[in-house]
Amino acid sequence: MDEERVKKLVRELIIEIGEDPTREGLKDTPGRIAQMYQEIFAGYESDSQLSVQFSEDSDTVIARDIQFYSMCEHHMLPFLGKIHIAYSPNGRVFGISKLVRLVEKYSKRLQIQERLTKNIADELFAQGVKGVIVIADAEHLCMRMRGVRNDATLTSFASRGIYENKEEKENIMAMIRKHTPNSSI
Ligand SMILES: [Zn+2]
Repeated sequence: MDEERVKKLVRELIIEIGEDPTREGLKDTPGRIAQMYQEIFAGYESDSQLSVQFSEDSDTVIARDIQFYSMCEHHMLPFLGKIHIAYSPNGRVFGISKLVRLVEKYSKRLQIQERLTKNIADELFAQGVKGVIVIADAEHLCMRMRGVRNDATLTSFASRGIYENKEEKENIMAMIRKHTPNSSI
């Protein structure tokens, strides 16, 4: 990201909004936004390092309540919530921090929730696990602040491998639901 260019563009935007970019409260805003964008869009540069795994025989592993923040690509407003990941290892397991990094890799971008869910499932499944389920629960500020102004949450799913089987999927979903009482799943 060209920081100087972003600053210039944000300054233009502030003028178009009808504000004075030179006033005290706004004069450093373009710089702050340029810095912030490097952080919240860091997913494009990220390497989730899922290849680092530990040898371990294990049944299904579930990582619940991984918090995420993303930016909706239609309005460039945040959507945020929790992601639950279940996978069936194939003799090797991932450290939980690697799963968090995987979520960040795809959430710190311009995104839509459905694609975010799929991106995570696809990358994990590509590591050779037997099956993956990814569930995302999120609220969207573009829906709260504008348009229909509703605080409904959206839940999206992606399943791969053995969990594409209906029965297998329902078993795992029930397990996640049982331990995640506030989830809408
Ligand atoms: Zn939106």
